Amino acid sequence: MRTIVEPKERIDKLWGIQRTDTAVTYRMMRYVIRVDHNGDVLLHNVITGQLVKLDQAEAKLLEKLPATFTPLMEKLIEHQFVVPNDFDEHQRVVGIRLILRKLADKQEKPGINHITIFPTTACNARCYYCFEKGVKPQTMSEQTANEVVEFLQKHYGGKKLWIRWFGGEPTVGADRISQICEGLHQRGIDFSSKITTNGYLFDEKMVEIACSLWNLDSAMISVDGTKERYNRVKAFVNACDDPYERVMNNIGLLLAHKVHVNLRMNFDKQNYMEFKEILDEARDRFSGNPLLDVYVHQINGHYENVDSSLIQGDEEWFSEKILELNKMSRKMGLLHKKSELPRLEYKWCIAARDDAVTILPQGQLVSCPERMNPDQYKGDLKHGVNNQDLICFWKQFADYERCRDCCLFPECVKILNCAGKDRCFYKLERLDQIKEIVCNLADSSADEQ
Ligand code: SF4
Ligand code: SF4
Repeated sequence: MRTIVEPKERIDKLWGIQRTDTAVTYRMMRYVIRVDHNGDVLLHNVITGQLVKLDQAEAKLLEKLPATFTPLMEKLIEHQFVVPNDFDEHQRVVGIRLILRKLADKQEKPGINHITIFPTTACNARCYYCFEKGVKPQTMSEQTANEVVEFLQKHYGGKKLWIRWFGGEPTVGADRISQICEGLHQRGIDFSSKITTNGYLFDEKMVEIACSLWNLDSAMISVDGTKERYNRVKAFVNACDDPYERVMNNIGLLLAHKVHVNLRMNFDKQNYMEFKEILDEARDRFSGNPLLDVYVHQINGHYENVDSSLIQGDEEWFSEKILELNKMSRKMGLLHKKSELPRLEYKWCIAARDDAVTILPQGQLVSCPERMNPDQYKGDLKHGVNNQDLICFWKQFADYERCRDCCLFPECVKILNCAGKDRCFYKLERLDQIKEIVCNLADSSADEQ
Protein backbone atom coordinates (compact mmCIF):
# COMPACT_ATOMS: atom_id res chain seq x y z
CA MET A 1 0.00 0.00 0.00
CA ARG A 2 1.31 3.45 -0.89
CA THR A 3 -0.20 6.60 0.59
CA ILE A 4 -0.98 9.35 -1.95
CA VAL A 5 -2.80 11.69 0.43
CA GLU A 6 -2.03 11.54 4.15
CA PRO A 7 -4.93 11.21 6.60
CA LYS A 8 -6.00 14.32 8.52
CA GLU A 9 -3.96 14.09 11.67
CA ARG A 10 -6.66 15.28 14.06
CA ILE A 11 -9.30 12.83 12.88
CA ASP A 12 -6.77 10.02 12.59
CA LYS A 13 -5.72 10.55 16.21
CA LEU A 14 -9.30 10.62 17.45
CA TRP A 15 -10.12 7.41 15.67
CA GLY A 16 -6.92 5.75 16.81
CA ILE A 17 -5.12 2.73 15.42
CA GLN A 18 -7.28 -0.29 14.76
CA ARG A 19 -5.78 -3.39 16.34
CA THR A 20 -5.72 -6.62 14.41
CA ASP A 21 -7.95 -9.41 15.63
CA THR A 22 -7.10 -12.73 14.01
CA ALA A 23 -10.37 -14.26 15.15
CA VAL A 24 -12.80 -11.99 13.30
CA THR A 25 -14.08 -11.63 9.76
CA TYR A 26 -13.23 -8.36 8.04
CA ARG A 27 -15.16 -6.39 5.45
CA MET A 28 -14.63 -3.12 3.61
CA MET A 29 -15.42 -0.08 5.75
CA ARG A 30 -18.67 1.56 4.53
CA TYR A 31 -17.12 4.98 4.08
CA VAL A 32 -14.40 4.01 1.63
CA ILE A 33 -14.57 4.97 -2.03
CA ARG A 34 -12.89 2.65 -4.48
CA VAL A 35 -11.64 3.97 -7.82
CA ASP A 36 -10.14 1.69 -10.48
CA HIS A 37 -7.74 3.66 -12.64
CA ASN A 38 -5.19 2.49 -15.22
CA GLY A 39 -5.16 -1.00 -13.74
CA ASP A 40 -4.61 0.31 -10.18
CA VAL A 41 -7.00 0.10 -7.25
CA LEU A 42 -7.22 3.36 -5.30
CA LEU A 43 -9.03 3.65 -1.98
CA HIS A 44 -10.15 6.85 -0.34
CA ASN A 45 -11.11 6.79 3.33
CA VAL A 46 -13.90 9.37 3.63
CA ILE A 47 -13.46 9.63 7.41
CA THR A 48 -9.73 10.31 7.66
CA GLY A 49 -9.23 11.71 4.15
CA GLN A 50 -6.42 9.24 3.39
CA LEU A 51 -5.98 8.14 -0.25
CA VAL A 52 -3.91 5.03 -0.97
CA LYS A 53 -2.91 2.92 -3.93
CA LEU A 54 -3.00 -0.81 -3.23
CA ASP A 55 -0.37 -3.24 -4.38
CA GLN A 56 -1.60 -6.12 -6.52
CA ALA A 57 -1.88 -8.68 -3.72
CA GLU A 58 -3.96 -6.27 -1.60
CA ALA A 59 -6.18 -5.47 -4.57
CA LYS A 60 -6.83 -9.18 -5.11
CA LEU A 61 -7.64 -9.57 -1.45
CA LEU A 62 -10.43 -7.01 -1.74
CA GLU A 63 -12.29 -9.30 -4.12
CA LYS A 64 -12.42 -11.96 -1.42
CA LEU A 65 -13.95 -9.80 1.30
CA PRO A 66 -15.55 -10.47 3.70
CA ALA A 67 -12.81 -12.77 4.89
CA THR A 68 -10.99 -13.83 8.01
CA PHE A 69 -7.67 -12.24 8.84
CA THR A 70 -4.61 -12.78 6.67
CA PRO A 71 -1.29 -10.94 7.14
CA LEU A 72 -1.90 -9.13 3.84
CA MET A 73 -4.72 -7.24 5.56
CA GLU A 74 -2.53 -5.64 8.18
CA LYS A 75 -2.15 -2.19 6.63
CA LEU A 76 -5.75 -2.14 5.43
CA ILE A 77 -6.84 -2.83 8.99
CA GLU A 78 -4.44 -0.34 10.55
CA HIS A 79 -5.69 2.49 8.32
CA GLN A 80 -9.34 1.47 8.76
CA PHE A 81 -10.04 0.57 5.14
CA VAL A 82 -11.35 -2.75 6.38
CA VAL A 83 -13.14 -3.31 9.69
CA PRO A 84 -14.62 -6.25 11.60
CA ASN A 85 -18.00 -7.36 10.29
CA ASP A 86 -19.85 -6.12 13.37
CA PHE A 87 -18.11 -2.72 13.55
CA ASP A 88 -20.49 0.28 13.58
CA GLU A 89 -18.69 3.02 11.65
CA HIS A 90 -21.85 5.15 11.57
CA GLN A 91 -21.85 5.46 15.37
CA ARG A 92 -18.11 6.08 15.30
CA VAL A 93 -18.59 9.05 12.95
CA VAL A 94 -21.40 10.43 15.10
CA GLY A 95 -19.16 10.10 18.17
CA ILE A 96 -16.14 11.79 16.57
CA ARG A 97 -18.38 14.63 15.34
CA LEU A 98 -19.62 15.26 18.85
CA ILE A 99 -16.07 15.40 20.22
CA LEU A 100 -14.90 17.77 17.46
CA ARG A 101 -17.88 20.02 18.02
CA LYS A 102 -17.29 20.19 21.77
CA LEU A 103 -13.62 21.02 21.18
CA ALA A 104 -14.61 23.73 18.67
CA ASP A 105 -17.14 25.23 21.11
CA LYS A 106 -14.37 25.55 23.71
CA GLN A 107 -11.83 27.06 21.31
CA GLU A 108 -13.93 29.36 19.14
CA LYS A 109 -13.78 33.01 20.07
CA PRO A 110 -17.18 34.45 20.92
CA GLY A 111 -18.72 36.87 18.46
CA ILE A 112 -21.15 36.88 15.57
CA ASN A 113 -19.46 37.32 12.22
CA HIS A 114 -21.52 35.44 9.63
CA ILE A 115 -24.52 37.64 9.00
CA THR A 116 -27.37 37.27 6.55
CA ILE A 117 -29.28 40.54 6.21
CA PHE A 118 -32.68 41.06 4.62
CA PRO A 119 -32.76 44.77 3.67
CA THR A 120 -36.23 43.93 2.36
CA THR A 121 -38.62 41.08 1.67
CA ALA A 122 -40.07 42.96 -1.31
CA CYS A 123 -39.09 41.85 -4.78
CA ASN A 124 -39.38 43.32 -8.28
CA ALA A 125 -39.71 39.85 -9.89
CA ARG A 126 -42.41 37.22 -9.63
CA CYS A 127 -40.77 33.79 -10.00
CA TYR A 128 -43.37 31.03 -9.70
CA TYR A 129 -41.10 28.93 -7.47
CA CYS A 130 -40.17 31.60 -4.89
CA PHE A 131 -40.10 30.10 -1.39
CA GLU A 132 -41.15 33.46 0.04
CA LYS A 133 -44.53 33.53 -1.65
CA GLY A 134 -47.05 34.92 0.81
CA VAL A 135 -44.38 36.69 2.89
CA LYS A 136 -45.45 40.27 3.56
CA PRO A 137 -43.18 42.73 1.70
CA GLN A 138 -41.36 44.80 4.32
CA THR A 139 -38.37 47.06 3.85
CA MET A 140 -35.96 47.96 6.62
CA SER A 141 -36.34 51.45 8.07
CA GLU A 142 -33.44 53.88 8.58
CA GLN A 143 -33.75 53.41 12.31
CA THR A 144 -33.52 49.61 12.05
CA ALA A 145 -30.48 49.92 9.76
CA ASN A 146 -28.79 52.04 12.46
CA GLU A 147 -29.69 49.38 15.02
CA VAL A 148 -28.16 46.71 12.75
CA VAL A 149 -24.85 48.61 12.85
CA GLU A 150 -25.02 48.99 16.64
CA PHE A 151 -25.86 45.29 17.02
CA LEU A 152 -22.93 44.25 14.84
CA GLN A 153 -20.54 46.56 16.67
CA LYS A 154 -21.62 45.09 19.99
CA HIS A 155 -21.45 41.43 18.92
CA TYR A 156 -18.77 41.07 16.22
CA GLY A 157 -16.02 40.24 18.68
CA GLY A 158 -13.30 42.07 16.75
CA LYS A 159 -13.42 39.58 13.88
CA LYS A 160 -13.99 40.26 10.19
CA LEU A 161 -17.67 40.21 9.21
CA TRP A 162 -18.93 38.07 6.33
CA ILE A 163 -22.23 39.55 5.21
CA ARG A 164 -24.73 38.13 2.77
CA TRP A 165 -27.46 40.44 1.43
CA PHE A 166 -30.58 38.41 0.90
CA GLY A 167 -34.28 39.01 0.45
CA GLY A 168 -36.76 39.54 -1.27
CA GLU A 169 -34.61 41.33 -3.77
CA PRO A 170 -31.91 43.02 -1.67
CA THR A 171 -31.23 45.77 -4.23
CA VAL A 172 -34.81 47.02 -3.69
CA GLY A 173 -33.39 48.05 -0.30
CA ALA A 174 -30.07 49.31 -1.72
CA ASP A 175 -30.18 52.51 0.38
CA ARG A 176 -30.33 50.48 3.57
CA ILE A 177 -27.40 48.33 2.41
CA SER A 178 -25.39 51.50 1.82
CA GLN A 179 -26.41 52.92 5.19
CA ILE A 180 -25.33 49.77 7.06
CA CYS A 181 -22.02 49.65 5.17
CA GLU A 182 -21.32 53.33 5.85
CA GLY A 183 -21.92 52.68 9.56
CA LEU A 184 -19.50 49.74 9.57
CA HIS A 185 -16.82 51.74 7.72
CA GLN A 186 -17.20 54.64 10.18
CA ARG A 187 -16.63 52.26 13.08
CA GLY A 188 -13.59 50.68 11.43
CA ILE A 189 -15.23 47.22 11.25
CA ASP A 190 -13.67 45.03 8.59
CA PHE A 191 -16.17 43.21 6.38
CA SER A 192 -16.82 41.79 2.95
CA SER A 193 -20.16 40.95 1.40
CA LYS A 194 -22.01 38.76 -1.06
CA ILE A 195 -25.42 39.23 -2.57
CA THR A 196 -28.16 36.92 -3.81
CA THR A 197 -29.93 39.01 -6.44
CA ASN A 198 -31.84 38.89 -9.70
CA GLY A 199 -29.37 41.52 -10.94
CA TYR A 200 -31.97 43.71 -12.63
CA LEU A 201 -31.60 46.91 -10.60
CA PHE A 202 -27.83 47.16 -10.94
CA ASP A 203 -26.38 49.84 -13.18
CA GLU A 204 -22.93 51.39 -13.52
CA LYS A 205 -23.45 53.59 -10.45
CA MET A 206 -24.78 50.81 -8.21
CA VAL A 207 -21.95 48.47 -9.25
CA GLU A 208 -19.42 51.16 -8.30
CA ILE A 209 -21.11 51.68 -4.93
CA ALA A 210 -21.24 47.89 -4.41
CA CYS A 211 -17.49 47.65 -4.92
CA SER A 212 -16.39 50.74 -3.01
CA LEU A 213 -18.96 50.85 -0.20
CA TRP A 214 -20.54 47.39 0.14
CA ASN A 215 -17.17 45.56 -0.26
CA LEU A 216 -19.05 43.20 -2.54
CA ASP A 217 -16.95 40.25 -3.66
CA SER A 218 -19.56 37.98 -5.19
CA ALA A 219 -23.08 37.97 -6.59
CA MET A 220 -25.38 35.00 -7.16
CA ILE A 221 -27.71 35.80 -10.05
CA SER A 222 -30.33 33.40 -11.35
CA VAL A 223 -30.97 33.25 -15.08
CA ASP A 224 -33.58 30.55 -15.53
CA GLY A 225 -33.66 30.22 -19.28
CA THR A 226 -33.06 31.94 -22.57
CA LYS A 227 -34.44 35.41 -23.23
CA GLU A 228 -38.05 34.57 -24.00
CA ARG A 229 -38.52 32.23 -21.07
CA TYR A 230 -36.49 34.39 -18.70
CA ASN A 231 -38.60 37.50 -19.32
CA ARG A 232 -41.79 35.48 -18.91
CA VAL A 233 -40.74 33.60 -15.76
CA LYS A 234 -39.21 36.55 -13.91
CA ALA A 235 -42.19 38.77 -14.87
CA PHE A 236 -40.47 41.90 -13.51
CA VAL A 237 -42.74 44.56 -12.07
CA ASN A 238 -42.69 47.83 -14.06
CA ALA A 239 -40.02 46.63 -16.49
CA CYS A 240 -39.83 49.04 -19.42
CA ASP A 241 -36.87 47.44 -21.17
CA ASP A 242 -35.67 43.94 -21.99
CA PRO A 243 -34.86 42.51 -18.52
CA TYR A 244 -32.81 39.63 -19.91
CA GLU A 245 -30.50 41.98 -21.82
CA ARG A 246 -30.25 44.25 -18.85
CA VAL A 247 -29.30 41.46 -16.44
CA MET A 248 -26.74 40.06 -18.88
CA ASN A 249 -25.21 43.54 -19.22
CA ASN A 250 -25.13 43.88 -15.45
CA ILE A 251 -23.32 40.55 -15.15
CA GLY A 252 -20.73 42.00 -17.54
CA LEU A 253 -20.48 45.16 -15.40
CA LEU A 254 -19.97 43.20 -12.20
CA LEU A 255 -17.31 41.01 -13.81
CA ALA A 256 -15.55 44.09 -15.17
CA HIS A 257 -15.39 45.38 -11.59
CA LYS A 258 -13.85 42.08 -10.44
CA VAL A 259 -16.95 40.84 -8.66
CA HIS A 260 -17.28 37.07 -8.83
CA VAL A 261 -20.59 36.12 -10.48
CA ASN A 262 -22.36 32.82 -9.86
CA LEU A 263 -24.83 32.56 -12.72
CA ARG A 264 -27.32 29.94 -11.62
CA MET A 265 -30.05 28.39 -13.68
CA ASN A 266 -32.81 27.13 -11.40
CA PHE A 267 -34.24 24.26 -13.37
CA ASP A 268 -37.03 21.76 -13.67
CA LYS A 269 -38.48 19.76 -16.56
CA GLN A 270 -39.60 22.93 -18.34
CA ASN A 271 -36.28 24.64 -18.86
CA TYR A 272 -33.30 22.29 -18.37
CA MET A 273 -32.89 21.92 -22.14
CA GLU A 274 -32.04 25.62 -22.42
CA PHE A 275 -28.93 25.36 -20.29
CA LYS A 276 -26.71 24.70 -23.31
CA GLU A 277 -27.90 27.95 -24.89
CA ILE A 278 -27.16 29.82 -21.67
CA LEU A 279 -23.67 28.34 -21.67
CA ASP A 280 -23.11 29.38 -25.30
CA GLU A 281 -24.29 32.85 -24.53
CA ALA A 282 -22.14 33.13 -21.39
CA ARG A 283 -19.10 31.96 -23.35
CA ASP A 284 -19.78 34.40 -26.22
CA ARG A 285 -20.46 37.36 -23.97
CA PHE A 286 -17.90 36.84 -21.23
CA SER A 287 -15.30 34.74 -23.07
CA GLY A 288 -14.40 32.36 -20.26
CA ASN A 289 -13.90 34.99 -17.55
CA PRO A 290 -12.52 33.02 -14.56
CA LEU A 291 -14.68 35.10 -12.20
CA LEU A 292 -17.82 33.64 -13.75
CA ASP A 293 -19.28 30.29 -12.72
CA VAL A 294 -22.35 28.97 -14.54
CA TYR A 295 -24.24 26.08 -13.00
CA VAL A 296 -27.66 24.57 -12.36
CA HIS A 297 -29.70 24.15 -9.20
CA GLN A 298 -32.90 22.16 -8.80
CA ILE A 299 -36.19 23.97 -8.16
CA ASN A 300 -37.60 22.57 -4.94
CA GLY A 301 -41.30 22.19 -4.38
CA HIS A 302 -44.22 20.75 -6.28
CA TYR A 303 -45.30 22.63 -9.41
CA GLU A 304 -47.60 21.76 -12.27
CA ASN A 305 -48.09 23.02 -15.78
CA VAL A 306 -51.40 24.54 -16.92
CA ASP A 307 -52.38 21.05 -18.13
CA SER A 308 -51.66 19.68 -14.60
CA SER A 309 -48.58 17.76 -15.73
CA LEU A 310 -45.87 17.77 -13.12
CA ILE A 311 -42.89 19.92 -14.00
CA GLN A 312 -40.84 18.73 -11.06
CA GLY A 313 -38.38 15.95 -11.57
CA ASP A 314 -37.93 13.34 -8.89
CA GLU A 315 -34.68 13.01 -6.97
CA GLU A 316 -33.18 10.61 -9.47
CA TRP A 317 -34.04 12.84 -12.44
CA PHE A 318 -32.63 15.95 -10.79
CA SER A 319 -29.45 14.15 -9.68
CA GLU A 320 -28.73 12.91 -13.18
CA LYS A 321 -29.42 16.31 -14.75
CA ILE A 322 -27.25 18.14 -12.22
CA LEU A 323 -24.38 15.78 -13.03
CA GLU A 324 -24.89 16.09 -16.79
CA LEU A 325 -25.45 19.86 -17.00
CA ASN A 326 -22.75 20.98 -14.57
CA LYS A 327 -20.29 18.66 -16.29
CA MET A 328 -21.16 20.34 -19.58
CA SER A 329 -20.38 23.72 -18.02
CA ARG A 330 -17.04 22.48 -16.65
CA LYS A 331 -16.07 21.13 -20.05
CA MET A 332 -16.78 24.52 -21.61
CA GLY A 333 -14.60 26.21 -18.98
CA LEU A 334 -17.57 27.96 -17.38
CA LEU A 335 -17.55 26.24 -14.01
CA HIS A 336 -14.28 26.59 -12.15
CA LYS A 337 -15.16 25.84 -8.55
CA LYS A 338 -12.68 23.31 -7.28
CA SER A 339 -13.77 20.61 -4.94
CA GLU A 340 -11.62 18.63 -2.54
CA LEU A 341 -11.54 15.04 -1.44
CA PRO A 342 -14.16 14.39 1.23
CA ARG A 343 -13.38 13.75 4.89
CA LEU A 344 -15.28 13.84 8.13
CA GLU A 345 -17.03 17.18 8.62
CA TYR A 346 -18.61 18.36 11.83
CA LYS A 347 -19.52 21.99 11.24
CA TRP A 348 -23.17 22.93 11.13
CA CYS A 349 -24.76 25.17 8.54
CA ILE A 350 -25.33 28.80 9.58
CA ALA A 351 -28.70 27.96 11.16
CA ALA A 352 -27.01 26.11 14.01
CA ARG A 353 -23.88 28.16 14.47
CA ASP A 354 -23.37 30.52 17.38
CA ASP A 355 -21.27 32.85 15.22
CA ALA A 356 -24.05 33.31 12.63
CA VAL A 357 -27.37 35.11 12.56
CA THR A 358 -29.99 36.23 10.07
CA ILE A 359 -31.47 39.73 10.49
CA LEU A 360 -34.98 40.40 9.13
CA PRO A 361 -36.19 43.83 7.89
CA GLN A 362 -37.85 44.71 11.20
CA GLY A 363 -34.87 43.69 13.27
CA GLN A 364 -35.92 40.21 14.39
CA LEU A 365 -33.18 37.58 14.50
CA VAL A 366 -33.69 34.10 13.07
CA SER A 367 -31.42 31.10 12.50
CA CYS A 368 -32.29 29.89 9.02
CA PRO A 369 -32.88 32.45 6.23
CA GLU A 370 -35.57 30.16 4.85
CA ARG A 371 -37.58 30.07 8.10
CA MET A 372 -38.87 33.53 8.97
CA ASN A 373 -42.13 32.84 10.82
CA PRO A 374 -42.63 34.57 14.19
CA ASP A 375 -42.19 31.20 15.93
CA GLN A 376 -38.60 31.29 14.66
CA TYR A 377 -37.63 34.65 16.18
CA LYS A 378 -34.72 33.91 18.50
CA GLY A 379 -34.18 37.51 19.56
CA ASP A 380 -33.96 41.02 18.19
CA LEU A 381 -31.41 43.77 17.59
CA LYS A 382 -31.99 45.37 20.98
CA HIS A 383 -31.83 42.24 23.14
CA GLY A 384 -29.60 39.98 21.03
CA VAL A 385 -30.09 36.22 20.71
CA ASN A 386 -32.04 35.12 23.78
CA ASN A 387 -34.23 32.13 22.92
CA GLN A 388 -32.36 29.07 24.21
CA ASP A 389 -35.07 26.68 23.03
CA LEU A 390 -34.64 27.79 19.43
CA ILE A 391 -30.85 27.58 19.70
CA CYS A 392 -31.21 23.93 20.78
CA PHE A 393 -33.92 23.33 18.15
CA TRP A 394 -31.35 24.05 15.42
CA LYS A 395 -28.55 21.96 16.92
CA GLN A 396 -29.90 18.48 16.33
CA PHE A 397 -28.50 16.11 13.73
CA ALA A 398 -30.73 14.45 11.18
CA ASP A 399 -30.05 10.73 11.13
CA TYR A 400 -31.47 9.08 8.02
CA GLU A 401 -31.46 5.37 7.47
CA ARG A 402 -30.35 5.76 3.85
CA CYS A 403 -27.48 8.08 4.79
CA ARG A 404 -25.96 5.59 7.20
CA ASP A 405 -24.82 3.36 4.36
CA CYS A 406 -23.88 6.15 1.97
CA CYS A 407 -20.13 6.42 1.44
CA LEU A 408 -20.42 10.22 1.68
CA PHE A 409 -22.08 10.24 5.10
CA PRO A 410 -18.96 11.44 6.99
CA GLU A 411 -18.83 14.71 5.02
CA CYS A 412 -22.58 15.21 4.77
CA VAL A 413 -23.79 17.10 7.85
CA LYS A 414 -27.57 17.49 7.92
CA ILE A 415 -29.63 19.04 10.64
CA LEU A 416 -32.97 17.77 11.80
CA ASN A 417 -35.04 20.91 11.32
CA CYS A 418 -33.72 21.96 7.91
CA ALA A 419 -36.51 21.98 5.31
CA GLY A 420 -34.09 20.38 2.86
CA LYS A 421 -32.82 17.68 5.20
CA ASP A 422 -34.23 14.78 3.23
CA ARG A 423 -33.18 16.04 -0.20
CA CYS A 424 -30.22 14.45 -1.87
CA PHE A 425 -29.50 15.80 -5.34
CA TYR A 426 -25.72 16.11 -5.42
CA LYS A 427 -24.44 12.62 -4.63
CA LEU A 428 -23.86 11.61 -8.26
CA GLU A 429 -22.08 14.84 -9.07
CA ARG A 430 -19.98 14.63 -5.92
CA LEU A 431 -18.95 11.04 -6.64
CA ASP A 432 -18.02 12.00 -10.17
CA GLN A 433 -15.87 14.88 -8.90
CA ILE A 434 -14.19 12.65 -6.32
CA LYS A 435 -13.34 10.08 -8.97
CA GLU A 436 -11.73 12.75 -11.11
CA ILE A 437 -9.71 14.16 -8.20
CA VAL A 438 -8.54 10.68 -7.19
CA CYS A 439 -7.40 9.87 -10.75
CA ASN A 440 -5.57 13.21 -11.08
CA LEU A 441 -3.82 12.75 -7.74
CA ALA A 442 -2.82 9.20 -8.65
CA ASP A 443 -1.40 10.39 -12.00
CA SER A 444 0.59 13.21 -10.49
CA SER A 445 1.94 11.04 -7.69
CA ALA A 446 3.06 8.49 -10.35
CA ASP A 447 4.84 11.34 -12.24
CA GLU A 448 6.67 12.34 -9.07
CA GLN A 449 8.05 8.86 -8.50
S1 SF4 B 1 -27.78 13.18 1.85
FE1 SF4 B 1 -27.21 11.96 0.08
S2 SF4 B 1 -24.98 12.25 -0.14
FE2 SF4 B 1 -25.56 12.90 1.94
S3 SF4 B 1 -25.22 11.08 3.19
FE3 SF4 B 1 -27.39 11.12 2.60
S4 SF4 B 1 -27.48 9.85 0.76
FE4 SF4 B 1 -25.34 10.41 1.07
S1 SF4 C 1 -32.03 25.83 4.59
FE1 SF4 C 1 -31.16 24.16 5.79
S2 SF4 C 1 -28.97 24.16 5.24
FE2 SF4 C 1 -29.81 26.16 4.64
S3 SF4 C 1 -29.44 27.49 6.41
FE3 SF4 C 1 -31.51 26.67 6.61
S4 SF4 C 1 -31.24 24.88 7.93
FE4 SF4 C 1 -29.22 25.39 7.12
